Amino acid sequence: MAGASGRKWYRGDCHVHSAYSHGADLTPEQIVAEARGAGLDFIATTEHNTSAGHGLWGPRTGGELVVVLGQEVTTGTGHWLALGIEPGQEIDWRYRLRDGVIDRHLDRVHRVGGLCVAAHPHAPYVSGTFMYPYEGFDVIEVWNGLWTSDQVWQADNEAALAEWGRNLTVGVHRGRWIPAMGNSDAHLEGQIGTPHTVVLAEELSVVAVLDAIRAGRSWVAGSAAVDLSLTVSAGERAAGIGERLQTLDLQAVLRLEVRGVPSGTVSIHTDRGSVHRTSLPAAGTGAVEWGTSAQESAFVRVEVRHADGNMAALTNSVVLE
Ligand SMILES: [Zn+2]
Ligand SMILES: [Zn+2]
Repeated sequence: MAGASGRKWYRGDCHVHSAYSHGADLTPEQIVAEARGAGLDFIATTEHNTSAGHGLWGPRTGGELVVVLGQEVTTGTGHWLALGIEPGQEIDWRYRLRDGVIDRHLDRVHRVGGLCVAAHPHAPYVSGTFMYPYEGFDVIEVWNGLWTSDQVWQADNEAALAEWGRNLTVGVHRGRWIPAMGNSDAHLEGQIGTPHTVVLAEELSVVAVLDAIRAGRSWVAGSAAVDLSLTVSAGERAAGIGERLQTLDLQAVLRLEVRGVPSGTVSIHTDRGSVHRTSLPAAGTGAVEWGTSAQESAFVRVEVRHADGNMAALTNSVVLE
């Protein structure tokens, strides 16, 4: 399962349905081919309320594409993803917030080293809107499928982002902030990888990928055509996405490089909101430098939008101390 691949950035889509899920029609072979075509290194298989599909993936986990075993748990008051569960492990879905049992089910996933992801928190259909407190969850799926679409069932990603961004300030202040991730929620051909999460993992393995997602050493990309790097430095020290930077009261300098977003817009966000905005050239490649301090900014994170306003990439935070 582990790749001899070393510490680097890997791309993956952790919310994928096969024909085992209602409304989906992808075979495992199609999923593997599409994931490779989309430039992905890993996926998670997340059927609705069943692990019956886990057995399909056994032989494939040895290849270049790492497959995280998971489940989408569609409760009466919101959907969540269990990622990194045991082969064949079933997570119960027959409850809602008022039953008071969610923590018990989250525990079962945590006990086997798995992650619990609040899925598409602002999906507009019955039971699709996420009503649980976020505290027990490890990650929030801030970006689900197309950033915006005219489909009435499509999650409102703009609302999810606004909510997550607002909660970050409280979270950083309290010492525990919940990272964002993005997944396609693919049901049909052509959807895998839009968007996906890019993680800095110690190696290409299930455990290392889940560690990186849990820590927020990750950013979300609309496609593999988009790439970015973000570091913040203060004197001799530097930190990347998902890390903390001890600034020792020195000036902190954010450096961002972006590729693949022609005429896009970069915005920098802190606990004071959107604090800086700049445009990318028509070629789509650009670098941004911005100075701040721990006094001024409790954290920094970046959004990159296409010329039409749709999201191209968003990062987790670098916390300044
Ligand atoms: Zn769902
Ligand atoms: Zn789904």
